[in-house]
Order: sequence, then C-alpha cells, then structure tokens
Amino acid sequence: VYSEQYLIERIAAKIPSEKRLPRPISAKNGLLLGIGDDAAVVAGRNSLDWVITCDAFLEGVHFLPEATPADSVGYKSLARATSDIAAMGAVPRFFFLTLAIPANRTGQWFDQFLQGMARAARELDIRLAGGDTTQFSSVAISLTVLGEARRGRTIARSGARPGDLIYVSGPVGRAELGLQLLQSGFGRLPRHRALLRQHFYPRIRGGLGSWLADNRIASAMMDVSDGLSTDLARLCTASRVGARIDAAHIPVPRIPASPAIVRLKLDPLQLALHGGDDYELLITLSPRNVAKLRRAPGFSQLTQIGEITRSKCILLVDSGGSTQSLHPEGWDPFAKPKRK
Ligand SMILES: [Mg+2]
Repeated sequence: VYSEQYLIERIAAKIPSEKRLPRPISAKNGLLLGIGDDAAVVAGRNSLDWVITCDAFLEGVHFLPEATPADSVGYKSLARATSDIAAMGAVPRFFFLTLAIPANRTGQWFDQFLQGMARAARELDIRLAGGDTTQFSSVAISLTVLGEARRGRTIARSGARPGDLIYVSGPVGRAELGLQLLQSGFGRLPRHRALLRQHFYPRIRGGLGSWLADNRIASAMMDVSDGLSTDLARLCTASRVGARIDAAHIPVPRIPASPAIVRLKLDPLQLALHGGDDYELLITLSPRNVAKLRRAPGFSQLTQIGEITRSKCILLVDSGGSTQSLHPEGWDPFAKPKRK
C-alpha cells in the first residue's frame, strides 16, 4: 500500500498540471499557484486573486458513522474545506457542495446536516453557489471552496527560510483527544461533551490567516489538518528546509484527571504531535516580524514552537534537552485505513 503523498505525486506526474511556480509568483495562463499546496491561486480582476480548493468528507473514512451527529457532518465538512482557504491567507467567499446520501438519510438526518452546514456558513461568512446531489450507499461529501486574496499576498508552504520562527495558532491534539474518547465510549457522557467539541465542530482561524497575508508577516503557512508531525514535514519539504521543535513549547491538550480517562494512558505530547483535525495554522516568519504579531487576531493563543533550520531534517528537542528525529506519523488515509 502506498502513501497518500505518493499517490498525489503520481497524479501530478501523469495528468497535465502546474505545480509550484518560482517565487516571486508569476502568472502563467492565469494560474499563479497549482497542485501541491493548501489551495490553488488563479489571477482575478481588480488586484484580487481567486484561491480555490476541494475537499472530500466520507462516512467511515473521515467521520465515524454511528457516533457523529448529523449537524457535525454538515458543520465540519464545510469548516475543514474552508480552512485550506484561510491557510493561504485568503478570505472565503463561495462554495459548491456535491452531496451523496442514502435514501434513508433524506428526512431528519438531512435537516440536521443542513442546520450544521448553515451554522458553519454563517460563522465563516461564506455563500453556497451551486453543487450536485445524488443517492449513494453511504454519506459522501465533496466541497469546492473559493476565496479571495489581494494580488500576490497569498502565503504558500514553500516560503520558509532558515532562521524563521515556527508558530502554531492554538492548541493541537484536542480533536484527536476527542476522537480517542469517542472511540473508547466516553463520548456519550454529558460531562465529556466539551472535550469532543474540537473533533465535531472545529474552529477555523480565518481572521488570523488573512491578517498575516495582508500585513505580509508570514513567510510560509498551512493548516494542521493531518497532524503537526506530518504537516510540518510537508511545509519543510515544500520550502527545502528543516526544523527544530521544542517539545516543551507545543500547546498540548489538557487531559481530564478522571480515573477512567487516566486508564487510557493518553500522552498529551503524542496527541499534539500526530493528531489531526485541529485546523490550527502552522506559520513561519522572520524574527524581524515578531513584534508586529502583537496586533494579530488571536495573538494570545499564538505559540512559538521552534525554528526553521538549514539542514533538511526535523528534530524534536525534549524538556531535558535531548534531541530525536520527528517522523511524520499523522493522518494518512492509505497508511492507517479507518483510523477515523
Ligand atoms: Mg491544508
């Protein structure tokens, strides 16, 4: 079985496509940035560019069939797709929904699904512009999202430079904590419901992404959708750099001290390093831009976790000062089928 990354490389090699274009970004048939980033960038009019992404959300692959409320399916599918627009520093505007559902989900389930998606659309200030609906044996959702950015201001994964500082926009590993509690049967207890919120209804850092782009603060950016270890490796590969991460600085999830949960032996650092679905932003910036960050939306949650290095490896420094390689062990649908 091959990895998702290898499949993407084969797709890009076989089908006529444009990949990363050399910086500074230059227009080629209107396509400013192609396959290989959070979203593509297409030249628009009046000094604006279109930022475009698509995203699949499948029952049994991306969400647990029985345990996931219908309104979470609606909310999360749109939020996670829109996160890739925020991760480019763009403002989301329109989306297209392709929805395939079984006939027995067209009643109450469908109403609740729509409620969740409508709430996400209002919070993200994004409008449905079209789509397609069909019948299928399970729930399968494809979302295409369009956003807008000022010409040349989008932030790709490829711009990190040695000496840049690495930030995350908030705690990572909370969605994975929720997923593991859900899979262990804790999700049904009301007192644990708050711990599932980031898994069912992830918060998207849209305002921060576009602020960083408008003020030209970040050198590279992406969302942490598949886990910090996996997504940081992608950013470093795209930028042809390495990284040094301080374990003690990573904002890890707080695990409740109730005896039943303690028995699960969940490790907050492992959840934070390899858990996916948080949709916080992973940001690199030059040290000379640090002072400007104080005015960023959500500044208090921004945490510096390390720095970009010249050597191409990714190192994790633990609290005792010893160093080990950090391997990508986040979400890969082909490496770990049915993990979610
Ligand atoms: Mg992404």
